[in-house]
Amino acid sequence: MRDPDRVRPQEPMAPRTTFRIGGPAEFLVEVHTMAELLGVLEVVGKYGLPLHILGNGSNVLVPDEGVPGVVLVLEGDLADRRIEGTRVVAGGGCNLARLAVEVSRMGLGGLHFACAIPGTVGAGLVINAGAHGGEMSQVVAEAEVVWPEDGRVQRLRPEEIGFGYRTSRLLGTSAIVTEVVFDLYPADRDELAARMKELLERRRATQPLGLPNAGSIFKNPPGDYAGRLIEAAGCKGWRVGDAQVSEKHANFIVNLGRATARDVITLALKVRDAVESRFGVRLEPEVRIWGPNPFR
Ligand SMILES: Cc1cc2nc3c(=O)[nH]c(=O)nc-3n(C[C@H](O)[C@H](O)[C@H](O)COP(=O)(O)OP(=O)(O)OC[C@H]3O[C@@H](n4cnc5c(N)ncnc54)[C@H](O)[C@@H]3O)c2cc1C
Repeated sequence: MRDPDRVRPQEPMAPRTTFRIGGPAEFLVEVHTMAELLGVLEVVGKYGLPLHILGNGSNVLVPDEGVPGVVLVLEGDLADRRIEGTRVVAGGGCNLARLAVEVSRMGLGGLHFACAIPGTVGAGLVINAGAHGGEMSQVVAEAEVVWPEDGRVQRLRPEEIGFGYRTSRLLGTSAIVTEVVFDLYPADRDELAARMKELLERRRATQPLGLPNAGSIFKNPPGDYAGRLIEAAGCKGWRVGDAQVSEKHANFIVNLGRATARDVITLALKVRDAVESRFGVRLEPEVRIWGPNPFR
C-alpha cells in the first residue's frame, strides 16, 4: 500500500453515494489485489478500527457526521471480470449494470435484468439485487468472500449464500464479497438488447432518475408494493428539509439539493409510521444505513 492516493484521510463520502449525502470517511482505502486487501484487514484488526465496504454507493445512507475507521473500496483485480464460455467471473467491485450490458451484447443471457442496477457485483450478491423478475440468485454459481476478523477466504455455493427476497445469509455479517461466478446461457443478442432497452425506458418513465436517490427506500412487503402503500397513505411529495418522497415514484426519497442523512431518516420514519397506521403493514428499509439503525 505505498501509493498515497489509495489511502485518503477525511475523504468526503457524499460524492461517492448516489444520494449525495454523508460526512467524510476517516480513512478511505482503495485495494486493488487480494494481497492488498488482506494487508489492510490485518492493520484494521491490529488497531481495532471500524470497517465498512463501499461499492457504488447506490444503496447506502452515510451519516452526516461521517464514518469512523476505514471505508474500503475494491478496485483493480477486485473489480475486474473475465468471461469463460458461459461462465463469467467478476470481482466484488465490478460494476453490475456495465457487466450485464457487456455480457448481453456478447449473447449471454441471464444477467440482463441488472442492466439498470447501478451497483457493484459484491453488494448485489449480499442483497440478492433484482429487477423485472430477475435476481442474482438465478445466475450465481459460486462466490468468494473474505472474513475480515481472520482474513479467511471462503468459497460459497448458492445454498450456503442463502438467498431470499433482497437478502441473503451474508447480509448483516462482516463478509466481504471479493468474487462472484455467474452461470449464464447462450441467447439471442438482439432479443437481449430489445429487452434491456424496454427495461431502461420503463425506468426512465417511472423513476426519478434526474435527482439524487438510493433506489427503493423500503422493501416490498409480501404480496404488495411499498410504493403503492406509500402513495395510498398520502405520503407522495412529503418533505423534511431537502429530502422528499418522490412525486414520480413514492418508494424513492430524493435529495432536492442539501438533504442530510438525518432528513432522510426522519422522513422515512414518518412514511413508515403513516403506512403502518393506515394499513397495519410495517415497511422494512431496503437502503443500508451506516451507523445506528433507527428502524430497529
Ligand atoms: C436509481 C436506482 C435504481 C436502483 N434499482 C435497483 C433495482 O432495480 N434492484 C435492486 O436490487 N437494487 C436497485 N438499486 C439499489 C442498488 O443499486 C443495489 O442495492 C446495489 O446492489 C447496491 O450496490 P452498491 O455497490 O452501490 O452498494 P453500496 O451502496 O456501495 O453498498 C450497499 C451495502 O453493501 C455493502 N457492500 C458493498 N460492497 C460489498 C462487498 N463487496 N461485500 C460485502 N458488502 C458490500 C456496503 O457495505 C453497504 O452496506 C437501485 C439504486 C438506484 C440509485
